[in-house]
Amino acid sequence: MKVGVLALQGAFIEHIKILNELGIRGVEIRQLKDFSYNFDGLILPGGESTTIGKLLRELDLLYPIREQVVRGLPVFGTCAGMILLAKHIENQPEHYISTMDTRVTRNAYGRQYDSFNITAEFNKHLIEMPFIRAPYIKSVGNDVKVLATVHDKIVAVRQSNQLATAFHPELTKDYYVHNYFVKMIKGEI
Ligand code: GLN
Repeated sequence: MKVGVLALQGAFIEHIKILNELGIRGVEIRQLKDFSYNFDGLILPGGESTTIGKLLRELDLLYPIREQVVRGLPVFGTCAGMILLAKHIENQPEHYISTMDTRVTRNAYGRQYDSFNITAEFNKHLIEMPFIRAPYIKSVGNDVKVLATVHDKIVAVRQSNQLATAFHPELTKDYYVHNYFVKMIKGEI
């Protein structure tokens, strides 16, 4: 199994390490020629969505990625990656890959709660969730399944081949969410 990890900016190395530990080849995508069409899955890491979005456009990666996601390529976006996947971003006309029927609010917890860790349920399974200048999901379309909420805010969702979390599971030692994504790739869930 080969999973591409967008490596333009942000926390991509952590995802590659976890994939490797799970026995999966993680391949860095830094430019268009790295974006192979035989990836089994794709990870969009956290970082700064405006920076990653700008680079996606400049490097002509935005449309090839969108096309593959629309065709069914399993994709997992964490934090900024979740923003990149959203069809709607609050207070911002710009959107990026725009394949997930979600409306997200960026930097949603305010300065006081800039970063925090919480243990909460993801798919009815308790995991640690590190939030870093995180967004949350304000609303979702009918085809979107909510997998986690924290303080009544939606923080993890799935829409067929797409998975997104507002938090950073790659910064913990619990690989439950990555295993969930691998099962999505295998078509087991
Ligand atoms: N605040 C960032 C953004 O709006 C996301 C933060 C993160 O990925 N940890 O893009």
